[in-house]
Amino acid sequence: SDILHIVGGGMAGSEAAWQAAHMGIDVVIHEMRPKVETFAHKTGNLGEMVCSNSFRSDDSEQNAVGLLHWEMRAANGLIMSCADQNRLPAGGALAVDRDPFAETVTARLMAHPRISVSYEEISTLPDDGNWIFATGPLTSAGLGTAIAAETGAEALAFFDAIAPIVYFDSIDMSRAWMQSRYDKGETEAERTAYLNCPMDRDQYEAFIDALLAADKTEFHEGETATYFDGCLPIEVMAERGRETLRHGPMKPVGLTNPHQPDVKAHAVVQLRRDNALGTLYNIVGFQTKMKYGAQTEVLRMIPGLENASFARLGGIHRNTFLNSPTLLDGQMRLKSRPNVRFAGQITGVEGYVESAAMGLLAGRMAAGEILGHPVATPPGTTASGALITHISGGAEAKTFQPMNVNFGLFPPVQGLKGGRRGRKDRYQAYTDRAKADWLGWLEQTALDVA
Ligand code: FAD
Repeated sequence: SDILHIVGGGMAGSEAAWQAAHMGIDVVIHEMRPKVETFAHKTGNLGEMVCSNSFRSDDSEQNAVGLLHWEMRAANGLIMSCADQNRLPAGGALAVDRDPFAETVTARLMAHPRISVSYEEISTLPDDGNWIFATGPLTSAGLGTAIAAETGAEALAFFDAIAPIVYFDSIDMSRAWMQSRYDKGETEAERTAYLNCPMDRDQYEAFIDALLAADKTEFHEGETATYFDGCLPIEVMAERGRETLRHGPMKPVGLTNPHQPDVKAHAVVQLRRDNALGTLYNIVGFQTKMKYGAQTEVLRMIPGLENASFARLGGIHRNTFLNSPTLLDGQMRLKSRPNVRFAGQITGVEGYVESAAMGLLAGRMAAGEILGHPVATPPGTTASGALITHISGGAEAKTFQPMNVNFGLFPPVQGLKGGRRGRKDRYQAYTDRAKADWLGWLEQTALDVA
């Protein structure tokens, strides 16, 4: 049939329903709340924000998430329109009044003649029909089991263990160097996969002290810590003994510092290339529950990272997400079951805005397919396109962890000066190019969008 079923009425599912309905498709949203609860949601509203009430920066010229706001507004986005309608004063950030926001989302979806809501939990992946699963970081246990059975258990994670990600151009390469341990790797790409930052004994001891003293976040109620094996937070490793890190992620073996070939490092922090473009590096094994302010301070003690800027900071959360680079195609379809799409945080993006943006794309793509006019994947030069390109293949599948939108995901603009001074011009060039390409994509895919 021509009906589109959307499972989950959160940020992504609500946006997907809105977009598809505006393309003339009948939509049923299947939402388990309020019958089945999660540990974080408090209401039965669609589009409920579970934690902070911020959509982050609204600056569409210098900030990638602000650019994503702009793209969704230009595409008749429901989530942005409801956020704008319920905006609270917050300087350059877009903060929203959470309850009226979710009530507006719910009311506008309910009022749409093509949209209906069925309050029920869905626990299987259907064999036929058109489906989008947008069940979010707190996907119900029953559905999680069904997805794992389809994808294989190793391709569905129930927690994220996010190591901080650094912009390559903010790393001081007069202190750091590129080398893989024991010089493993044949190709240039393999040899530039790792970056190393050396520490002497005093630097290491000071670093451990700072780690132990730093402010940490508590786990939310209902989040258990049973996943700890294999992805211990660095501060927990440090608590187990001052030498633990030096024998773990910070071991100095198999590496020679070309800046000081005669000095044996006491410890080495390794960073691994995080995307094909080589613009992002993650700090290997450095998942952490340190608060963001403390985290930045502690990480900048690492030689070479004194001026690091972070594409994202580390964290550990309850978070159900797919290994999208291996499982999804550029249309967000499950390769093994193409009548099923995924959208939102479960695809490995992170945050309200990113999740809504992936809902927008999935809704349009599913509607286009039903109408017999496939909607092309947006260009990777746009914020939405950069995200979908990243999750559907640009990211390293082996170490895939959820990602916020950031300029490191964008293909470089040629002919601009590098370094800190060039950054403002560079970001402006990214956003100018993105806006033009997004409008072009909207026009090109605009069949009958009302
Ligand atoms: P959700 O908005 O969670 O929507 C998923 C929907 O699916 C829910 O309504 C759920 O009830 C429903 N559902 C689940 N399973 C089923 C099923 N089997 N059948 C039917 N319905 C189902 N992001 C930020 O930007 N800022 C923050 O401060 C922030 N804090 C967070 C704190 C916590 C504790 C958690 C868990 C997440 C946080 N996030 C935050 C992430 C944020 O929740 C997501 O980015 C965003 O809500 C994801 O949108 P989504 O549509 O993918 O999922």
